[in-house]
Amino acid sequence: MMTLRIYNTLAGRVEDFQPIEDKKVRIYTCGLTVYGYAHIGNYRTFVFQDVLRRFLRYQGYEVVQVMNLTDVDDKTIRNAKAAGLSLRDYTDRYIEAFDIDRQLLSLEKPEIVVRATDHIDDMVKLIQTLEQKGYAYKREGSYYFRVEKFSDYGKLSKIDLSGIRAGVRVDADEYDKANVRDFVLWKAAKEGEPFWDTPLGPGRPGWHIECSVMSMKYLGETFDIHSGGVDLVFPHHENEIAQSEAATGKPFVRYWLHGEHLVVNGEKMSKSLGNVYTLRDLIAKGFRPTAIRYLLASVPYRSILNFTFEGLQQARHSMERLRNFHYRLTKEAFPAGKSEDLEQVAASGRRSFEEALADNLNTAEALAAIFEMVREGNTAMDQGKFFDGNREAFLDTLGRWDQIFAVLEDNDQAKLRQFGLVKGEQKVSLEEVPVPNGEAKKMLVETLNDEEIEKRIAEREEARRGRDFKHADQIRNDLLKSGILLEDTKAGARWKRM
Ligand code: AMP
Ligand code: ZN
Repeated sequence: MMTLRIYNTLAGRVEDFQPIEDKKVRIYTCGLTVYGYAHIGNYRTFVFQDVLRRFLRYQGYEVVQVMNLTDVDDKTIRNAKAAGLSLRDYTDRYIEAFDIDRQLLSLEKPEIVVRATDHIDDMVKLIQTLEQKGYAYKREGSYYFRVEKFSDYGKLSKIDLSGIRAGVRVDADEYDKANVRDFVLWKAAKEGEPFWDTPLGPGRPGWHIECSVMSMKYLGETFDIHSGGVDLVFPHHENEIAQSEAATGKPFVRYWLHGEHLVVNGEKMSKSLGNVYTLRDLIAKGFRPTAIRYLLASVPYRSILNFTFEGLQQARHSMERLRNFHYRLTKEAFPAGKSEDLEQVAASGRRSFEEALADNLNTAEALAAIFEMVREGNTAMDQGKFFDGNREAFLDTLGRWDQIFAVLEDNDQAKLRQFGLVKGEQKVSLEEVPVPNGEAKKMLVETLNDEEIEKRIAEREEARRGRDFKHADQIRNDLLKSGILLEDTKAGARWKRM
């Protein structure tokens, strides 16, 4: 087993990964705040975490991953109210949608997926412990964490605490580094907001306490890996460390992993720029979940990923190249025998992609390694120098690579159909979720999907062969109306989306 070397935000450098228990890795990942559909930025982080867990499993570790769902915060409360639903009913629907997206993107299900509102009692207990130890205090019905008392505060985000004033408080869950204050653990009940009646008084938990509680409950007071996007380093993860270590007196997490953001055309994704895409938005535009997964996985997690539609098209093409090669390996007839050189090519493809992933999950290098193997394999096949005996080694390397990338199988249409995301078959329960800005979110595929396009093209070929040019032109025009441009070439009709 190759040692995984990974960048630890806490240490500020790449380190050898060594779990506490020899063969088992305990991971906590901050999941989604379920106030709406997740966007592809969120999925970039979830794909990075999926690559991590798949690679650890590939290396023979047992993985226990906990993912939380934040189903109570300012945004979920606001949107549930706007939709006229209880918090539970509202968040249930987006949790269901998230689970469907997860399957569309072939994200392995974490062993333990938990909701914040199912752990209120545990949160109350942790806040009581903090109060007993002098780290928490109460003001006007809310509880706050006394930052100046925790001397390690700032060790993750490397923040300078010299300007902090004792006893100045912040009620918001999100704030920036210029604003270090005593942060809120428990928020006093407010008029018209859901609350829980607890020994702390009526109220609801702050965001940070959730993750301290749910991670330690399922993974123990000290565990191996905690991860999220870079935006979580401060204050969320810094505050988690403070709460947990103040309460237990033990180190909370050994390796902190943070993924860089996805941006769109070089700009931050934001509602005001109109460039926030959910997975469903892209599916509705005719893109395949596997191509989206491929794109999100292709950029190493610590580099910014600039999302463009051209990039997504390219991802699709690259993925098709791999699938074509896989198809040739399984279907084409090759002469009997075995080339030792080619066996070397397959072995080195495997070694190179494994080494790349062990090097801080360098997915770009892992892709380059597999494409090098595909190129050499294809060339040999074209020259009649690929032998039946080489099939197995190439299939083995490709299959191993796909244990992590999970894009070889062409299963998009089947999955979209399974979840009712194909035109005319959409699922009603999710479709009807009112969204905050009042505009109904469509889940149905508006343009034709690939399968339908190819069927229409085959029909057109058929018409042309029967010299029914009127019908053939009709089909061409229909496709054009759906935004599909046909180009007749010697090898048949090629198409592209406009
Ligand atoms: P949230 O639902 O906001 O709690 O976010 C869920 C996860 O998505 C967290 O790990 C965030 O850090 C991550 N995330 C949010 N926006 C982006 C983005 N633009 N690119 C990558 N990850 C993101
Ligand atoms: Zn969290």
